[in-house]
Amino acid sequence: MFSSAGEISNHGVAFVLYGGANLHVKVQATVGWKPLGKTFHITEAKRSVIYKIDDIPAYDLYYQYLKIEEYDDFFDHSVLFPLAFDFEGLIVLKTPVKVNDDHSLTITSDVTGKLRDFRIAYGDPATILSDIEKHARDMAAFAPQGIYAFSCSARRGYWGDGRISYETIPFEQLAPTAGFYTAGEFIRHQEHALLLNVSVVTVGLREGPAGDDKSALIDVDKHEFTRQMALVHTLSSFVGKVSEDLENAYRRMSIMAKTDGLTQLFNRSEIERLIWSAVDDYRQSIVSGEEVVAPSLIMADIDDFKKINDRYGHKAGDAVLKALGALFRGLVEESGIEASAGRWGGEEFMLLLPQSAISEAAAFAQTLCEEFRQLVFEEDRHHTVSVGVVQAQPSESADSLCMRVDAAMYHAKQNGKNRVVVQ
Ligand code: GH3
Ligand code: MG
Ligand code: MG
Repeated sequence: MFSSAGEISNHGVAFVLYGGANLHVKVQATVGWKPLGKTFHITEAKRSVIYKIDDIPAYDLYYQYLKIEEYDDFFDHSVLFPLAFDFEGLIVLKTPVKVNDDHSLTITSDVTGKLRDFRIAYGDPATILSDIEKHARDMAAFAPQGIYAFSCSARRGYWGDGRISYETIPFEQLAPTAGFYTAGEFIRHQEHALLLNVSVVTVGLREGPAGDDKSALIDVDKHEFTRQMALVHTLSSFVGKVSEDLENAYRRMSIMAKTDGLTQLFNRSEIERLIWSAVDDYRQSIVSGEEVVAPSLIMADIDDFKKINDRYGHKAGDAVLKALGALFRGLVEESGIEASAGRWGGEEFMLLLPQSAISEAAAFAQTLCEEFRQLVFEEDRHHTVSVGVVQAQPSESADSLCMRVDAAMYHAKQNGKNRVVVQ
C-alpha cells in the first residue's frame, strides 16, 4: 500500500473518504451465482473453518453432493459451487478454499453466528451476465460521473483473464471506471457491515443532479453462452423442483408419523412425547427458580363403547371416535388455550394443557363432557364420556401424572360414568 507520502505499510488498511455537499453515491453488490436446492445447516464452525454441516464433517457432506475431489485444483472447482447464505435479503457467498485433514473446510472468510443456513450456489456465465446487465442498467439510471468496481479475484479465476472484462465493459460504457481485484468486498447492508466473497461491488459517484440516463448504451453480449444457458437453466430448474418435491414429501411424512389416521389428532407416541417434554420443562423451570404454571392433563374415555360396536357395528363406532376427535379440535380452537390433543388408545383420548391452571382444565373438561353428550348420531343415538382431570405436582414424573389421570377417569366411571372427576 502506498501514497504520495511514500509506502505506508504491507499490512495496513487504507480508508478513502469522499465528501461534498452535492455528492451522490450508489453502491451495488452483484453476485450472479444462484442458490440451488435444499438448505443445509452449519452445526459446528469457528472463524473461517466449518467443521460440521448437518452434524457430519463439512467436506464429507460437500463431497457427497458435488463430488469435488480434494486435489490441488480444489478451489478452481469449488468456486463454481460456493455456499450461499441469505443475510436479511442479501445473498452472501463463501467459497470453500481448502480441505483440512479432519475433513473440515476452510472457507474464504468467517462465518458469523447469523450465517448458519446455506444452499449451494452455482455460477454460469449467462446468469452472471444477466445480473451484471441488470445492475448496469440501474447504475445507468443513476447517471454516474465515475465508477469504482471492486471485483473478487475468484471472479477473475472463474472467467479467465480474457473474459473478465465482460463484467466491467457495461459499466465502462457509462462513466470512467477504475478498481481492483479483491480478496473480499465490504458492503453496508442495513445497519451491518458485511464481508462478501465472489461478488463485484460497484460504486457510482456523481456530483449534482443526474444527467442523461445512458441505459441505451448498455450492451451485454451473452450470445456465445445462450446454448449453455438453456442447459444450465433446465438442469437447475429440474434440481430445484426435485428437491422441493422431496421436501414436501418429507413434510407430509413427518406429519403422518405424528397423526392418528382415524381422528386426525396426535397419535399415541406423539402425545406421549409432548406430555413427557411438558413435564420435563416444568421440572426444569422449578429447578431454575422460575414461576410457572404446572401442566394439566385431561383423559376422556367413551362410555360403553364396546356396546356401540356390538350393536351398531364397527363403522358406527369409528364415527363416534371421529366425532369426539373433531369436538376436541373444535373446543381447543374456540377456547384459544394452548393445548395438544391425542388419541391414547382405542377410545381413550388425552388433552395436554401445558399452561393451564387446574380450574381452567376442569372447566374445559366439563364443556367437553356436556357437548359430547349433546351430539346426535345416527338413529338419534347419544353417547357419553367419562373424564379425569389432574395437574402435575412439582416433583412428579410424567408416568405418575398419566397414572393419576387414568385413576381420576376410572373414578368417573365408578361414580356412574358421563361425568368429570378432578383430582
Ligand atoms: P367403559 O364404559 O368402561 O369404558 O366400557 P367400554 O366398552 O367403553 O370399554 P372397553 O375397554 O371394554 O371397550 C373398548 C372397545 O373399543 C373395545 C375395542 O374393540 C373398541 N375399539 C378399540 N379401537 C377401536 C377402533 O379404532 N374402532 C372401533 N370401532 N372400536 C375400537
Ligand atoms: Mg370406554
Ligand atoms: Mg377404555
